[in-house]
Amino acid sequence: MKTDTIAAIATALTPSGIGIIRISGQDAMNIIDKVYRSKNNDKLLSDVKSHTIHYGYIYDGEEMVDEVMVLVMRAPNSYTKEDTVEIDCHGGVFVMKRILETVLKYGARPAEPGEFTKRAFLNGRIDLSQAESVIDIINSKNEYALNSSLSQLKGSIKRDIIKNREKLIHEIAFIETALDDPEHISLEGYPEKLYVIVAKMLEEINHLIKSADNGKIIKEGIKTAIVGKPNAGKSSLLNILVGEERAIVTDVEGTTRDTLEENINLSGISLNIIDTAGIRHTEDIVEKIGVDKAKNCIDLADLVIYVIDSSKELDENDFAIMEQIRDKKTIILLNKSDLSSKTTAEDVKKHIDKTIISISAKEEIGINDLENKIKDMFFSGKISFNDEVMITNVRHKNALAEAKESLELVINSIRNGLPEDFFSIDLMNAYESLGTIIGESLEEDLVNEIFSKFCMGK
Ligand code: GDP
Repeated sequence: MKTDTIAAIATALTPSGIGIIRISGQDAMNIIDKVYRSKNNDKLLSDVKSHTIHYGYIYDGEEMVDEVMVLVMRAPNSYTKEDTVEIDCHGGVFVMKRILETVLKYGARPAEPGEFTKRAFLNGRIDLSQAESVIDIINSKNEYALNSSLSQLKGSIKRDIIKNREKLIHEIAFIETALDDPEHISLEGYPEKLYVIVAKMLEEINHLIKSADNGKIIKEGIKTAIVGKPNAGKSSLLNILVGEERAIVTDVEGTTRDTLEENINLSGISLNIIDTAGIRHTEDIVEKIGVDKAKNCIDLADLVIYVIDSSKELDENDFAIMEQIRDKKTIILLNKSDLSSKTTAEDVKKHIDKTIISISAKEEIGINDLENKIKDMFFSGKISFNDEVMITNVRHKNALAEAKESLELVINSIRNGLPEDFFSIDLMNAYESLGTIIGESLEEDLVNEIFSKFCMGK
């Protein structure tokens, strides 16, 4: 099948040391021959060996555009499995655009976002979960997310999914054959055997779904709600964590504040401060404690930071907040440790059992303890970044949930003594759901949607 040849600037469109223009497709060699000249104008890149690099110049007709190094990779040994050429040029935005224009002029067309990776997928070099990891790598906001994306790219998800799909197809085939040929193949005792297999598989899928939650935390940031009565010091704390004066700190209780939506990075862990309204109208949380909005803010949070003004005594409003956060992962901060204390950790402990840290947002005391505690809570053995299979993608998680549902139906059918052909329908559904994770039995729309999320040039 003849495919057209695509080209894009693969590096960021900002001034930098070098820029890369990538060309992939059947005409890649043809096109580079038209625009490249070696120093003595004595060689054609279509003649050189694969995986070699060549010094020379890019010419648009008789006009020299830039001095470059060109990397030649022949099909199928390239990222896209197609003939691929990468032009390393000077990193100026103008130069990169000019070279791209030249390449387009001589026969390539501009790549769509993610099209190189899409080709790698369509040509069978990577599966869909690996392709999606590339999106994650491009987008990953921090080191931890990057590590987990890298481990996906190694195909650990793929391995688990394939293994389970193979088991499923084996059982489906067995049932179908037995139903076709009851004289020779007996299903006697089979449901009990299948029960064990499916139950084991359910366990594995549940584990993957759980890791998806962790994966989400790392990728998107830990949803964090900062709660507490007005004037407890929430904005001051946020300012320190954010490292800039974004929130407006004020002495006047209930003063309207800036809308706040922050992504804080604590040594590689992202905290997303959620529900700006909850922070803005602190009053809602306290005086109208039943208000859904305040409750939502806390409900949505993965982590609650509850700030108490330790220079004041606890009151009804504090007790009301404690009720709301009782079941949440919470760190309680006894703020204003620089002032004389009216509320101690012991006082708080009488009402609620949570980690308590004493800080002074004003003097910036105890902030390190808070940061360390947050890191501890999320990374102490709970999440491993090396080999643990982590599904960092919502689509994966949904597909896993569907597979789980189908498998649970199988379990039910077995328990209820239903005929075997009932099992195979649900086994097939589970098989298909798992298949969508690695890009089998996928609608083309879905493929396009996934790839359109990629950056240009990848
Ligand atoms: P919020 O209403 O909970 O957001 O509280 P703010 O951050 O606006 O702080 C209310 C007041 O308490 C401000 O005047 C702050 O300067 C003061 N404040 C905040 N943290 C501390 C602290 O650790 N020590 C002292 N002495 N004052 C603080």
